Amino acid sequence: MLGWFRERRRRRILREPMPEAWRRIIRENVRHYDKLNRWEQRKLEDDSRVFAATKSWDGGNGVEITDEVKLTIAAQACLMVLGFDDSLDRFHNVRQIVVLESAYSLAIGRERENTRPQFLGQAAMDGLVYLAWDSTRHGGRDPRDGRNLVYHEFAHMLDFDDGLADGTPILRGRDDLKTWVDVMTAEYEQLCQDSHEGRASLLDQYGTTNSAEFFAVATECFFEKAHQLQKRHADLYEVLSAYYGQDPASR
Ligand SMILES: [Zn+2]
Repeated sequence: MLGWFRERRRRRILREPMPEAWRRIIRENVRHYDKLNRWEQRKLEDDSRVFAATKSWDGGNGVEITDEVKLTIAAQACLMVLGFDDSLDRFHNVRQIVVLESAYSLAIGRERENTRPQFLGQAAMDGLVYLAWDSTRHGGRDPRDGRNLVYHEFAHMLDFDDGLADGTPILRGRDDLKTWVDVMTAEYEQLCQDSHEGRASLLDQYGTTNSAEFFAVATECFFEKAHQLQKRHADLYEVLSAYYGQDPASR
């Protein structure tokens, strides 16, 4: 029944053609769009419109929730799940997206002595996702620097879907679990060792924090540095490619 309502709502939202101005926003702020084929672009546009229209949005510190804000976030999130047939259902647990102006804004409201601008974003088990708008827009406009705040926080939401923050989202098949755990554990340990011994790694050292952060960091790298990841961490690339149902290195 719920599926029927959702489908009806989706059809109603997509009844109108995509405004050209919205397509321009996605094209400009989510540069990965240009690498997609026509079918993928159309699916991304549709999913982004539905995501933008159906999620709850809130602007903190005077941030106005404009079409640009919604579509820039929606298109990056929807790009991640483009390879799933039930793409949008993957983010059913995202209850509200709170957009703040910058990392500094996010620090406000935390403990008073904590004034360092260390929080760019946050994803919580209860379905709230906090994003700093400046980093969100920058991340979408630079698709190759290896960092993307939306991929990072929404990877956490995929991870949380089974009720655990353990770096393992709900996989496509039960058979995938052993390979996933083996590869992710080995790659995580390798990153910790590299970090400990002062060796540079393709993956951000923040991934050594725990297995949940490792999955989020690996997801950023998968979409942003696909070629290098495939070359230098072939097993990791392969399990992420199987999970996301995408092969960004081929784009
Ligand atoms: Zn994180």
